[in-house]
Amino acid sequence: MHYIKNMGWIEVITGSMFSGKSEELIRRIKRARYGKKKIEVFKPRIDARYCRESVVSHNGDKITATNIENASEIKDFISQQVQVVAIDEIQFFDKEIVNICKDLADSGKRVIVAGLDMDFRGKPFGYTNLLMSMAEYVDKLQAICVVCGNPASRTQRLIEGKPATHSDPTILLGAKESYEARCRKCHEVPK
Ligand code: ADP
Ligand code: ZN
Repeated sequence: MHYIKNMGWIEVITGSMFSGKSEELIRRIKRARYGKKKIEVFKPRIDARYCRESVVSHNGDKITATNIENASEIKDFISQQVQVVAIDEIQFFDKEIVNICKDLADSGKRVIVAGLDMDFRGKPFGYTNLLMSMAEYVDKLQAICVVCGNPASRTQRLIEGKPATHSDPTILLGAKESYEARCRKCHEVPK
């Protein structure tokens, strides 16, 4: 990638669960650190009981992040010296995330965001799609389908081992549920 100079921009890393979004975000943050950039990393506080202060990849990589509840809190941590702003799990943020990313890029910062493009139903998730349309760079990653071994673009949700139905809520805290990477053909969403 040939990065733009003397100007801000937005990079979006998207795809299904297990596609390596967090891994790629962490890789980019580490590389920016080698470049001695001043970086701030954020992630949403989804569940107050489970307050993990890091961006963690499924391969065990992690990096310290500031947990925030609303996108508007990002502004409180950004000074003029900050050059790179990285945000994970963008699908969980309110609409304000779009304006904030735009303002940060307009003010000359490199904004790197990672998040799911689709929910378990295969429908657009949060404002990821809007950010994709505004971004200078978009990388859509794929995992490997655990059923057939093809590239996987979807996230399969299982509740008690069975495919979650269309009407099951997107966020269900405390239920015995799990997620798998699956391709278009193997992805199941019963009505
Ligand atoms: P994401 O942020 O997109 O959910 P992560 O960066 O957290 O992805 O995890 C990517 C890692 O997940 C891979 O490097 C691999 O070690 C692991 N992994 C587990 N299941 C799969 C799968 N079905 N396809 C690809 N990678 C998988
Ligand atoms: Zn498949």
